Amino acid sequence: MVGPPKNLSDLRRIEAQVRVTCTSCKATEVWELDALITEVGNNGGNTDWHTARYAVKCPRRCASPIISLLPIPFGKQHARSQAHRHALINLSLQILREAAGRSPVQAVGTIEVRLALHVLRPFVKDPQLLAEFWKAATVEPRHPWTSCHLPYRRIAQRLMERGAPVEQQNQP
Ligand SMILES: [Zn+2]
Repeated sequence: MVGPPKNLSDLRRIEAQVRVTCTSCKATEVWELDALITEVGNNGGNTDWHTARYAVKCPRRCASPIISLLPIPFGKQHARSQAHRHALINLSLQILREAAGRSPVQAVGTIEVRLALHVLRPFVKDPQLLAEFWKAATVEPRHPWTSCHLPYRRIAQRLMERGAPVEQQNQP
């Protein structure tokens, strides 16, 4: 978009969210565009870009609000959520990989491993693979063949097949 929008509804074309900031008390929050348009209407304002802010309340309801609005284009939200996904997957894999490294000599059914398996669930979309890791992590007594290496490889492989951004050190 070139220049500021003329109307809140112009932002629909770029699927934006809007950051509402009160420069008086520094409170800030992000609104979905449609919800903000409804809010402005409910507060008796109109959605003209330059006047809409007068019909938006301070996120902290402070006594002397000065509201400014900033569009957040879809592209930026998307980049942020991609980076978040990347971190969730690779931090979880790192926990599982390190646990697998210890697993030939000790049980590794720790709370961290449980958490990592839960985090990966929506990305792996195969509960069986995660259950296999947990079983290998907790079985007693330990033997060299009870390690988590194979379950780990299956999980990492599955993520890569599904197009997840698996960092090189976490690849099987
Ligand atoms: Zn305020």
